[in-house]
Formats: sequence, structure tokens, C-alpha cells
Amino acid sequence: MKLVFFGPPGSGKGTQAKLLTEKFKLPHISLGDMLRQEVRAESDIGQRAKALINAGKLVPDELTIELTRQRLNKPDCKNGFVLDGYPRSQAQADALEEILADLKWQLDKMVYFQVDEDKVVERLSGRRSCKTCGAVYHVKFNQPKVAGKCDQDGSELYQRKDDVESAIRTRFEVYAEQTEPLLERYKKSEKLATVEAAGSIEQVFKRLLTVIGYGGN
Ligand code: ADP
Ligand code: AMP
Repeated sequence: MKLVFFGPPGSGKGTQAKLLTEKFKLPHISLGDMLRQEVRAESDIGQRAKALINAGKLVPDELTIELTRQRLNKPDCKNGFVLDGYPRSQAQADALEEILADLKWQLDKMVYFQVDEDKVVERLSGRRSCKTCGAVYHVKFNQPKVAGKCDQDGSELYQRKDDVESAIRTRFEVYAEQTEPLLERYKKSEKLATVEAAGSIEQVFKRLLTVIGYGGN
């Protein structure tokens, strides 16, 4: 199962990717998680990306393209993966086609999480993430068992710097300008599968399973 998850910030891509990859034992490839990891490690990539991420802007295409190419070439991706948060620009979409062609792979589905911006602002401002494992919670909609602590490893939860109002606004603008136009490109392919992403996490997961052909499982 080779899937790409695509949609506005806060549409639930990361949350649904976690549920799906746990169920099917696949790698969850989140470009956002990988970039935040580079920032924490203070690598060259991390240093170039940090201010852009915090401001809600895209990091340069050449960085994300190279990270994606390297990650998809790892052996654990051979039997499937969920690529979450890539592509986000036409250049990234072109590069993805090349990477897949080089590997002689085809995507099964491009899953589009469709939701209105005004419905997801509250999701983003209430998001809390684990410092250690990146697990994602919400102060209201997906609470950890112990407030402020990760269920998986007990680490402290934090609010991402780009989950504050000014960066959230920028992220929606960037999405509308650079990422949403990709939808036209993917609408031409029968691989586009649309999931209505309003509703509870469980409801959205059921819809996701249905559009990828595992409804009822
Ligand atoms: P994305 O990866 O698309 O930016 P996330 O999966 O990180 O979005 O979700 C953003 C926030 O919204 C998180 O705090 C998450 O717990 C919460 N969330 C995700 N899906 C839902 C949902 N269906 N209903 C309510 N809150 C949700
Ligand atoms: P996310 O975790 O998907 O919300 O991504 C967080 C931030 O990481 C984005 O706002 C960008 O700054 C950066 N980022 C993640 N994926 C990409 C990508 N494909 N292209 C450019 N920047 C990205």
C-alpha cells in the first residue's frame, strides 16, 4: 500500500497516518517530523529550515526532495508507506514522479483530506506534540491519559512554534498558494481519493479505510 496524504494544515493527516501505519505496520513518512528532527539535531538542514518552519513557510524544495528521495530508497518502504506532507509544491510533485519512476513504483492512492479552514483552526491551536516521539494530541479532542504527558513514553508535551495564530495564518496562505493547486493535477488521475475530514478522529478513520479499499475492516 503506497499512499500520499495531502490536505490543509490541521486536516488530520498525521493523526490518520499514525492510525493507518500502526494497523498495517507500514512506515509513516512525515516530512514535518523529519524536518523537526533535523532542527533538534542542529544539522545543516535543521539550521536552514528552523526559522522557515517556525514562521509557517515552506522550506526549500531541494531539501525536502532530497530527504524524500533518501527516505523512500530505504528498504522498509518497499512494501508500502504513507507519505504525509509531501508534495507541497509543483516542483516537489514533479520530483516525486521521478523518484517513483526510478524505483519502478506506482502510488496506490493520493488521499486528499478535505476540510474547511475555519473548522481546523481550533485543532491547530490545541495541538500538543511529544518532544521525544512526536506523537500528536489535542487539549480537547485527543487528550493524553495524564495531562501534559505522552501516553507512549511519558515525555513532556509541547506546543509547536508554528501552532500559534500568526504562523497558522501563514500556513493556510502557503497551502492555498503553493499546495492546493496540486489538487487540479491529481484530479486528472483516478488515484485521487477524497476523505471528508470534518468529524471525529474515529469517523475520519472509517472513511479513510473505505476510500483505500479496506472498509469494514
Ligand atoms: P495535520 O497533520 O494534517 O496537520 P494533525 O493530524 O496533526 O493534522 O491534527 C491536528 C490537530 O487536530 C491535532 O492536535 C490532532 O490531535 C487533532 N485532530 C486530528 N484529527 C481530528 C479530528 N477528526 N477531530 C478533532 N481533532 C482532530
Ligand atoms: P507539518 O508537520 O506537515 O505541519 O509541517 C510543518 C512545517 O514543516 C511546514 O509548515 C513547513 O515549514 C515544513 N515542511 C513540511 N513538509 C514540507 C514540504 N513538503 N515542503 C516544504 N516544507 C515542508
